[in-house]
Amino acid sequence: MSLPMVKQVIDAYFEILDEEKSERADIQFFGGEPFYSPEVVYFSVVYARRKAEERAMDIHFEVTTNGIFSADVAAWVADHFDAVILSLDGPMDIQESQRPARNGKPVFPIVYNNAKIISSGSADLILRSCISQKTARRIMEITAWIVEEFHPKAVCFESVHPTGQSKKAGLFPPGPVEFARQFHASARILEAHGIAAVHSTTDVSICRTTICPVGRNALIISPDGAVDACYLPEKAWRDAGLEFRLGKVRAGKFDINENVLQGIRRLANGDKPSCVNCLCRYHCAGGCHVRQNGNRSIGRYDNTCMQTRLVTITNLLRRLNENDLATEWLTDEAAMARFACQSSDHISEMA
Ligand code: SF4
Ligand code: SF4
Repeated sequence: MSLPMVKQVIDAYFEILDEEKSERADIQFFGGEPFYSPEVVYFSVVYARRKAEERAMDIHFEVTTNGIFSADVAAWVADHFDAVILSLDGPMDIQESQRPARNGKPVFPIVYNNAKIISSGSADLILRSCISQKTARRIMEITAWIVEEFHPKAVCFESVHPTGQSKKAGLFPPGPVEFARQFHASARILEAHGIAAVHSTTDVSICRTTICPVGRNALIISPDGAVDACYLPEKAWRDAGLEFRLGKVRAGKFDINENVLQGIRRLANGDKPSCVNCLCRYHCAGGCHVRQNGNRSIGRYDNTCMQTRLVTITNLLRRLNENDLATEWLTDEAAMARFACQSSDHISEMA
């Protein structure tokens, strides 16, 4: 994104905040990789902070990054951001095999050192570990390593999303049963250290109608000034039959298509037809609007749903302090399979 475009976007954003008499601004950077253009990040943070200070407004900065930058940048990030979501899949062999650098040189030492620097700064560090069928059995080991090495606020475990590239690399999503077992055991360790264990579709601490920016009035701005509701490239949501182009930045203002905006709000606020009998609908909310488009028949679950269902049950049991019951249930594969596939969770319809 060019610096003049950054300025236009931030000006347009503060104009909305002023109209809404908002007391807080939220700016998030993601990519690709934001720090491929560090000057854009530096300028945005300094410029937006100045505008917030002029209004005595709180401002919150978050970045999602691969952590491949210099130690100086890491120190700046640690002191200037409120939250840093860093992709770190695990110890060296895991990180290098799942996230090799394009030039073939090892990048683990850089990411590891930067995680250490950010971990000791004022920003909240959220480590994001992508789990494949190869690493599912090692989630506990990854957890123990993280607890030993860093001081994150949260650790987020997410399954590999299958793409052409991940399949070529031999990386596939883990089995739901294995993932649920390992996630529960890891969550117990993390929570004992005051670290939150996160899995995006199974947060049972809140009820929600969408798990992502879609439907929350977020404005996702591309370098050319396009304003979208979703992180994915245009082709991905158009291929799924969705219209997520909210508008464009024009002459320092957001030119928003009101019909599209209302359509997105309706999409995110309605139950997906295939989810109506699933207890996870209050937390998973139907998952990703693009990748889980809700066209399945009611009560038919794919592997992503089964994983969500199993992890949700153990999260609920942990919240009820029924840790031992959860651990015992996780040893009973037949019970897990029955629940994972159960077509309706309505008590009146259970056998
Ligand atoms: S059916 Fe699947 S997508 Fe829908 S709420 Fe349940 S787990 Fe989520
Ligand atoms: S629709 Fe899917 S890809 Fe798009 S922002 Fe939501 S979760 Fe992310």
